[in-house]
Parts: sequence; C-alpha cells; structure tokens
Amino acid sequence: MMTRMHPGFTGVVQHHWPKPRGWTPPQHLDRLDVSSLPGVGPTLAKRLRTFGISSVRDLLDHAPRRYESAAEQVPIAKLGLAEGEVAIEGRIVSARARPLRGRRTLVNATVRDESGGQITAQFFNQPWLVEKLVPGAHVRLRGKLSRYGFDVKSYDLGEARRTADFAPVYPASEQIPSARLRELVRRALADHGRFLPDPLPAELELPTHADALAALHFPADEDEAEAGRRRLALDELLALQLVVVRLRTTDATAPSLAEPGELIARYREVLPFTLTEHQERAITEIDLDLAQTTPMQRLLQGDVGSGKTVVALYALLRAVESGRQGALMAPTATLAEQHFLTVESLCAPLGVEVALLTGAVKGDVEAPVVVGTHALIQPDVRFRDLAVAVVDEQHRFGVEQRKALAENRSAHVLHMTATPIPRTLALTIYGDLAVSEIAKPPADRKPIVTARVGAERSSDAYTRLRVHLDAGRQAYVVCPLIEQSETRLARAAQAEAERLRRGELRGYRVGLLHGKLKPADRREVMRQFKEHELDVLVATTVVEVGVDVPNATIMIVQEADRFGLAQLHQLRGRVGRGGEQSYCLLISRPFEDLTETADARLDALVGTTDGFELAEVDLELRREGQLLGTRQSGWSDLRFTKLRRDRDLIEQARELAAGLRDEDGPWHDAAEELLAGADHLGLA
Ligand code: ADP
Ligand code: MG
Repeated sequence: MMTRMHPGFTGVVQHHWPKPRGWTPPQHLDRLDVSSLPGVGPTLAKRLRTFGISSVRDLLDHAPRRYESAAEQVPIAKLGLAEGEVAIEGRIVSARARPLRGRRTLVNATVRDESGGQITAQFFNQPWLVEKLVPGAHVRLRGKLSRYGFDVKSYDLGEARRTADFAPVYPASEQIPSARLRELVRRALADHGRFLPDPLPAELELPTHADALAALHFPADEDEAEAGRRRLALDELLALQLVVVRLRTTDATAPSLAEPGELIARYREVLPFTLTEHQERAITEIDLDLAQTTPMQRLLQGDVGSGKTVVALYALLRAVESGRQGALMAPTATLAEQHFLTVESLCAPLGVEVALLTGAVKGDVEAPVVVGTHALIQPDVRFRDLAVAVVDEQHRFGVEQRKALAENRSAHVLHMTATPIPRTLALTIYGDLAVSEIAKPPADRKPIVTARVGAERSSDAYTRLRVHLDAGRQAYVVCPLIEQSETRLARAAQAEAERLRRGELRGYRVGLLHGKLKPADRREVMRQFKEHELDVLVATTVVEVGVDVPNATIMIVQEADRFGLAQLHQLRGRVGRGGEQSYCLLISRPFEDLTETADARLDALVGTTDGFELAEVDLELRREGQLLGTRQSGWSDLRFTKLRRDRDLIEQARELAAGLRDEDGPWHDAAEELLAGADHLGLA
C-alpha cells in the first residue's frame, strides 16, 4: 500500500486502498446519491438538488461563497454588553422543539457557561438538532442577542474543530443552514474522502484532493481555505488543458522569420506615439514565436482601448518584411472595415499595400496585407504566401469558422481579444494558447466614469451629452437590444435616430449605424464619424468592438438592463480612447423594477472598469442563474477557479499538461484519471 503525505497538510490519502464492502470506485462518487448519506431524507435531498447537489461529489464540490470572519467570544453573563455577532461557548442544560406558523420550527436550547450565565439559544428550522442538543453537550455558537434570546447563525457541536468563528457561508445558506451543510460534508469526507481520485504525481508536493476539500470546508483561516481552493482549481484547469492537449496536433510547420529589419524600424517611426512597456513586451514575445517553425498560437489579451491593434500590425509587417503576407481577420464586416481604415492609414506612409476582403471572394490574394472577415478562410481563397494571421475577437466567430481556422496550421496565428469575458477566458484555456497581456492602457488614459440613470431621468443624460457635443466632442447612443431579427433591430434603430434628431439631439449631426446597412453605406457612416462630420452615432451593438474614435467622450446606453455584462463592458470601451475624461451613462428601467441580477450587473459596471473583475462578477451572477435552474455548460461549470486570482494557475496547468501528455511518461495514467474525473465539465 502506498500512502502520501504533504507538508502543511495532515491528511493521508491511500492510493491503493483495500476495497471495503459497498465500495464505490472514485469516479462513481459522481453517481453516488447524496441521500445515501446518513440523515439525508427525501426532503433535504430535494432541497439540495435545487442547488445543483445530487451526488456526493456535488456536495463535496459545493464551494463556500465566502467565509465569515471571526467573532469575539464573550461570556454569557456579559452578553448584554456585546454588540453585533459574537460567539459563546457552554453546555446544554435543556432543549426542545416547537412548530411555528407555516412549516417553520424553532428549537430553543438553554445554554450555560463557566461565567455562570445562562441564555436561551434559538435555532430556526433545524428540528433535527433537538436530538443532538442533549443536556451536558458542549456547544459553541455564533449569533446575536435578540429580544427573545440568542439567535444562532452558526454552530459547532461537541469538541470538534471550532469552525463557528471562521465559518464558510455557502451559496445555499439561506435554505440550508451552513452548519448543516458542513455537517454533511464532514460526513461525506469521512466516509468517502479516501476514494476521491487524486491522480496528481506525488513529486509535485501538492496537498491531496481530499485534504484540499477539507481545507475548503473546514479551514482554520483564510490562507488555509485559499490554499485548498487553489489546489482544487488546479485539478480543474489541468483537466481542461489535458483535453486540449489531446485534441491538438503538432506536426504543422510555419516559416521561421528572421530578425526585425528596416520596415519595422520605419513602422516605429511612423507611429504617432512610443509603444508602452506592455506593448513592447508583447512584441518581444511575438518575435520569439515567429523565429520558430512551430506555428505561433498566441493570445494577445488587453482590455478595450489598451492598444492591441498596433501590436497586431507589427506582427503583420513582420510577415511582409520577409516577403510573405499578413492577414487580419475580424468577426464582422463593420469591424473589418474599421480595422482596414486604421491599418491602411499606418501602412500608406510605409508604402505597403492593404486590401479589404469582406464579401464573397475567390481566387488569388496578392496584397501583402489583407484585412477581412471569415471570407478570408473560404476554401477557394488562396494566399500567395501567408505567414502571419491575426484573428480579432476569435470567440465571436462561429464554430465552423473556428474549425476552419484551427485546420489552417501553416501560418503563425495571433489571437486578439479585448475582454476576458468568461467565454474568451475559456478559449484561453480550451485553446491552449500562450498569452501576452497588455495589462495597462497608454498612460494618459483616465478611467471612464460610469453612472446609472433611471429612465424617468433620461433627459438629464441627454443634457450631459449635449454639453460634450458643444465642447467639440462626439458621442454614441446605443439603441435597446431587442430579441428579434436583425431587420427589426435596424428598423428600431432607424426610428430612434429620427426621434432623437427631432427631439433631444435637434440641431446636431446624427448618423446611424446598424447591421443591415450596405457595406458601402456603413463605411461611409464610419468615415464621417471618424472625420467629425457627424456629432453623434446612433447605433446598435455593431459598435461593440473595434470602433476607434478618440474624440468620442460620452456614451448613452438605452435600456442598459437588457444587455449582458460583457457586452456593456465592450460597448463602454468605445469611449475613453483619448486623453479626455470620458463618460458612460446607463439608462435603465426605474431601479425598483429591475431584477436583482440586472441591478447587480449595472452596479458592477459603475464599480469598476477592470475587465477581469467584471468577468468574475459575470461568472458569479451566472452561477446564481445556474442555481435557479438555467444550467450552462463548459466554463460556468468550473467550480473552484477564480478568473482573476488564478491567472497563474492557468499557466501552471498548461505547463503541467504538457508534461503529463507524454504517452510513455510516468504520469500518463494520472492524465487519464483526471480526465475521467472531469466529466462534469462537458468537454467530451
Ligand atoms: P484595442 O484594440 O486594444 O481596443 P487600440 O489598438 O484600438 O486598442 O488602441 C486604442 C487607441 O490608443 C488608439 O487610438 C491607438 O491609436 C492608441 N494607442 C495605442 N497605443 C498607444 C500608445 N503606446 N500611446 C498612445 N496611444 C496609443
Ligand atoms: Mg481594437
């Protein structure tokens, strides 16, 4: 028998365990119903299920939402002087249960401590407790003094480890008391913990999976909880990476490019600014990739307005310099056209020709730099010699297009993404991409000021907007999102533009941009706005990505509560692109009419402009959504990973996966086991 122990963790996990009666193979903990645990009857099982807990494994993986900080422990005799939540400790004198109105119950227990003080502790809706609160039993309670006694929020029974003063709070805590959940988890870990799969090689010296779960549910402090969570997150991320590794083929090659030369030197001179440190670092990483014959697969990640486009163009020019071609691919025609304008204006002084390909194209592509939509990857489009492809906002491409992209492996590929919205981050993980990050925008940027405006006060928002226009700035008005056809959306946008021209924006030059415009018309509107022949652009979400007009300093989003968080963040990124202070005004239904999540989304946007932070909030809100029954698959099923905090783990998992994938290597079985345990991620 092999046992393993890890520094800092006390648990021991047996790897080759003797099979007890009723033995459950590890992956089957997924299928072992919670009702197999002692004390879980049909009612509790049903309640657990509404929180997504049906198997023992689900229960163990039900991570606390947060931890309650320690409460001061006071003698019962002094309880009258205490304020807020406190802890008391003592022995039970007597206890009894009684029904309340509805189907509620109350357990009253008299507790006495060494100070000689005595109080009635009240436990709501936990009738089973009455059997445990036997006279003489030792308890530690956390709660508040109320008019009727000591209102218990969490408790520890017996001499067991004291968690009442650093207690996990679970997403289900309102319906199922945390203490009850903790009791179940304790039981499940004791009975089944040693059957949990723990395939990571011992050489890594990580805590075992079971120890990590114990740390998560019964930590002594925040650090221990965090260490446990991160171990579990690593398993999760590693399983994802292994799937990716398995899907990946590596025998394709791309041309190895020589050192940057004269064209690149001139490009740097033509740029109207010096590149930031972050941009330079990204460029260095790209250069290293381009020198290899293994095709580059790199994600260039940076929040909206952080300056990715100039880095992308750098990569394209490296291809041109070597006598080959570079292509920039965008998910929509509008965005492709926008990129075309930017790229062309920077390439013109360099004497580099740029072609735009959006519609149905066929045949040979000769231009050194090509900007376009997925039209670029049609089978009958042939490049002379494509060396570098930049893909903007890859996650917005359809599945088929992504597949076509993935199959074309003879070029170096740089994926750009503006926001680490969950889906994009998932791609970072699923896509096995190396990551370059532009973590900071160019220095002179001021964070966008965001405010919420109730619909009843929308005229105030337009007053603000006119102040900007009168000062020579430009503005966006984003039309409501209607869940109907593109055509209806276009018509509604048109009507809104006309309404504004007659009303709030009378006397200003108002343009209209929507998805149903002909490409030539759309280009013309974009050009007019860019050259300040228009003051205001009334638009649908087609302005979401890429549109770059630094003189636009204010945006109004109508019916903002209908938009998703990531989408609003993207929209907001259209302003704040120059040195001026910019504003984003989110108009919504009166606050009291909003759903809780809509309200939380808008608050999050007001609270931060950090894409990672918003991604985390988004995930949190979706998780709640999932609890309410709209289950999602893939990314949102990651149970332990915290997007922002665990960026380093994503990298670590990627490296580990590379080591684990070796068929003959000692860790091959570990990889298989991890994959088997990751069923719930829905990756197969
Ligand atoms: P992203 O594509 O990351 O959203 P862009 O590349 O469109 O951002 O850049 C946003 C704006 O910042 C553009 O107007 C661009 O010209 C400008 N910009 C880019 N890099 C710098 C820099 N190093 N210094 C100043 N301005 C910059
Ligand atoms: Mg951009």
